[in-house]
Amino acid sequence: MKIGFIGLGNMGAPMASNLAKAGHQVHGFDTAGVSVQGVKQVETAAAAAEAADAVITMLPNGTILRAVADQIIPQMQPGAVLIDCSTVDVDSARAVAEQAQAAGLLSVDAPVSGGIGGAAAGTLTFMAGGSDEAFAKADPLFDIMGQKAVHCGEAGAGQAAKICNNMILGVTMIATCEAFALADKLGLDRQKMFDVVSTSSGYSWTMNAYCPAPGVGPQSPADNEYQPGFAAELMLKDLRLSQQAADSADADTPMGQIATALYEQFVENEDGLGRDFSAMLPRFEKRGRS
Ligand code: NAD
Repeated sequence: MKIGFIGLGNMGAPMASNLAKAGHQVHGFDTAGVSVQGVKQVETAAAAAEAADAVITMLPNGTILRAVADQIIPQMQPGAVLIDCSTVDVDSARAVAEQAQAAGLLSVDAPVSGGIGGAAAGTLTFMAGGSDEAFAKADPLFDIMGQKAVHCGEAGAGQAAKICNNMILGVTMIATCEAFALADKLGLDRQKMFDVVSTSSGYSWTMNAYCPAPGVGPQSPADNEYQPGFAAELMLKDLRLSQQAADSADADTPMGQIATALYEQFVENEDGLGRDFSAMLPRFEKRGRS
């Protein structure tokens, strides 16, 4: 396939590189002028989209996605597929899908989970929203860049799945960290706490697979001085998107709201910026009740 790839950052660069390694012809563009091995660098987003069978975007947010979509959609050939893998708000995902459809294109919103490690290893999970035809066209590319792709429903369903998952993740990480901080103050050994909770009804991915306590459970960013991993500011971005979606859908999400406020405080007023999102544990550890 001829593939245009726009947004060659931490995630986009290894994803584009994996597509090139698999034998696809990839034309890449990034405003930062990044070059990626195996990917032909072009001068504009429109040039990357021209005559492509598929265009993939991996951009910071919905505003930038909408601006890029305005540039590339008029250049794309009818029947080509636009695959947005960025994490953006549901409204932007739906707006871009409508614009693509009006131009005779197929489109899929396909945010990912798996982070930079998953992007490099080609083991991402894609959560996709779009028509059956669009998903079928994008699926062979998901196979190269990832290990699993779930077709979640129509346009916007991929973003909806992503932010609901990450709202659970943020809330659960906070619950796990505050429980460790309480256990500390009650004199409970952290290893014992892990041994019990990881095999009891309090278990979760954040406890069992990504334990925020250093030296306990499997290897995680906590064992590397909380270097990300998944940075607290990215968690905050996704929590904000969940609350934006909850506002627009009139959904009551009190825990999501509290988690957003806590990560906001941690990233903007404390020392959370640039640290893994599990660094909530040392944050709670330092604090008292008030
Ligand atoms: P990044 O900031 O490293 O990369 C974004 C790239 O887009 C940058 O290189 C930037 O120069 C480029 N860019 C910005 N505006 C552009 C434009 N108008 N045209 C072309 N290129 C432009 O971010 P990232 O970590 O690669 O994340 C990309 C997306 O993936 C985000 O939406 C993020 O939320 C999501 N995501 C990231 C992770 C992660 O662990 N990093 C995990 C899952 C999802």
